[in-house]
Amino acid sequence: MSSDAPAPPQAGSTRGQRQLPRRIYPYRILGMGLGGLPILLVLHQIGAPAGDYGLLAFTSLLWPHVAWLIAQRSRDPFRAELRSLAVDSALAGFWVPLMHFNALPSVLLLTVATADKISTGVRGLWLRAIPGMLMALAAAGLATGFSAQPQTTLAVLLACLPLLVIHTLAVSLGSYRLVRRVQGQNQQLEALSRVDALTGLPNRRHWQDRAESLLLANLRECQPATLLLLDIDHFKKINDQYGHMAGDDVLRGLARLIREHAGSQAQIGRLGGDEFAVALPSATIKAIATAEDLRAAAGSISSEAAPDLRCSLSIGIAAASRSTPDLRAWIDAADRALYEAKRTGRNRIHADTPDAIAGVADSTLAPCTQDM
Ligand code: GH3
Ligand code: MG
Repeated sequence: MSSDAPAPPQAGSTRGQRQLPRRIYPYRILGMGLGGLPILLVLHQIGAPAGDYGLLAFTSLLWPHVAWLIAQRSRDPFRAELRSLAVDSALAGFWVPLMHFNALPSVLLLTVATADKISTGVRGLWLRAIPGMLMALAAAGLATGFSAQPQTTLAVLLACLPLLVIHTLAVSLGSYRLVRRVQGQNQQLEALSRVDALTGLPNRRHWQDRAESLLLANLRECQPATLLLLDIDHFKKINDQYGHMAGDDVLRGLARLIREHAGSQAQIGRLGGDEFAVALPSATIKAIATAEDLRAAAGSISSEAAPDLRCSLSIGIAAASRSTPDLRAWIDAADRALYEAKRTGRNRIHADTPDAIAGVADSTLAPCTQDM
């Protein structure tokens, strides 16, 4: 007859544990109250002694509040609630002999008590509650001489229905809400797992997925695509000289700058550290112009923590072509170009396509006409 709340998916977590008594309280009031109805009718039918009615009043009306107070006053409300849940099961077992094993309410009480343990989500709780339930049943059986009148009258059957219907639906509704909440939290986690926390840009894994789609689509449709790899020059020194917070400001500032200059079709990501990537659905000459804008604008990146801080960028550029059939090859090509930009003095861009640097028109640089 216990009335536990539905499964807390985070039952093992501290927050889930702390919330267990609060979650169970209304369900216990409902379940114990509704469970009292068939018991009351059976006690009346079998001419039970007055003391049994007193026990019923305690079980149905008082016990849920007593359990709540015990949890509230306990230094460990979660453990206290687990004990009360075991008491719920023992009470269900206890009432079976007192009802002279009336079939339907007895089966209903034991089933609901066990199902409620399962629905808390606390591992093995239902199993641990069974010995107490059986011991209470045996003790009450010995006290009543195990008298049995298992037939269930129509009146008792009808009195069982509120517990069966209302309590079951209430617990299911609670479970539904929890599942929806967990689904929402999972979606949030999924979204967070794709984003770099410092800059808000897609992280490496997420960027790779997007860039790969852009690369494959553009190669398939003979559309140009160009990759920029950006790396801040001497970023370690910026951190050393101005501190990590100023370094973080620079990373955020660069992310903002890229968003402003790259255009809505660009796939931007932070690959890690001070390295960023921009996959553009553009021919190399246009991408070079974007890269040059970015390089020139990098001087404007500032940090309130370090007003005199100035930084510069090196950018490697690689056009998508037959020689970059997959993302890895494309990144490698841009990485080689970035290395050249660093090697030849930093604060510069370097493209792996000599034609592009020479300023050949866009159309001649599209991968399909360039070398496909
Ligand atoms: P180079 O010109 O050759 O690129 O020199 P560099 O000093 O920039 O060398 P490198 O790119 O290897 O340095 C990256 C540095 O970025 C090392 C690391 O301490 C720092 N870093 C990585 N992640 C973060 C971050 O999230 N915040 C800050 N402030 N620093 C970071
Ligand atoms: Mg660097």
